[in-house]
Amino acid sequence: MIIRTNLYPEGRKKAITMSYDDAHPFDRELIPIFNTYGFKGTFHANSMHIGEGKNYTDAEARELYKGHEISVHTYSHPALIDILPAELHDEVMRDKARLEEVFGYTVRGMSYPYGHFDNRIVDTVRFCGMKYARTTRSTGDFRLPEEFLTWHPTTHHNGDLYGLLERFMEQRVDRVYNMPCFYIWGHSYEFDADHNNDLYKMEEFCKKAQHLDSVWYATNIEIYDYVSAARSLEISAERKYVFNPSRLSVWVTVNNDRVVEIKPGENAL
Ligand SMILES: [Zn+2]
Repeated sequence: MIIRTNLYPEGRKKAITMSYDDAHPFDRELIPIFNTYGFKGTFHANSMHIGEGKNYTDAEARELYKGHEISVHTYSHPALIDILPAELHDEVMRDKARLEEVFGYTVRGMSYPYGHFDNRIVDTVRFCGMKYARTTRSTGDFRLPEEFLTWHPTTHHNGDLYGLLERFMEQRVDRVYNMPCFYIWGHSYEFDADHNNDLYKMEEFCKKAQHLDSVWYATNIEIYDYVSAARSLEISAERKYVFNPSRLSVWVTVNNDRVVEIKPGENAL
């Protein structure tokens, strides 16, 4: 049997995710658009901006970001190449702890302030328990990263969203190129500051890209968790069974056309 781990949940073929940095007040304008059109976002927050008298009170932040993911962006947004690993460790852990206090769940993802990363920075954030970290290096393609601690996005929202969407939808999914992920990132304040790229354009894009056939709209950590589960499948020597050691169902294609759900802990086909 030919077994391919080339599907997202429920057998969907592609994924779209949004990623916004800094917990800026303009997230109040952006998030209702995502909610209206069914998009899931990850919001990488500097928790120095959350609390009484800051961008959001704890209660406002909990309400606003409900249904989306909150993720680390360091406590105070330092330039990471200018600080020591011990300071970076403190910045990440302080942010993580404060966000967990506000939102009530374990915060496991991150984006790099100013997009700075190198091997030392990656090692430090891994040591802090971060499972993925987004860079600012747009690739213009839809490949999933091998290494999620250097997860390069498809494009900034100032990029050619419509051209990329067309390519994304036309992207053939085959043995070489599967599980495409259209990853858009930015800062919500850019919608406020740059009138050539206002919120209206983002809303128009969301209208066009909503409810697409066979697309999974997910947060960054949902994609990380699912792809990790898919990559952890264990196939028997004769390819008769697939064992799923993870806590998530994983969908596979068998003999090119049969879609099979392998439930958590199941040894099936
Ligand atoms: Zn930032």
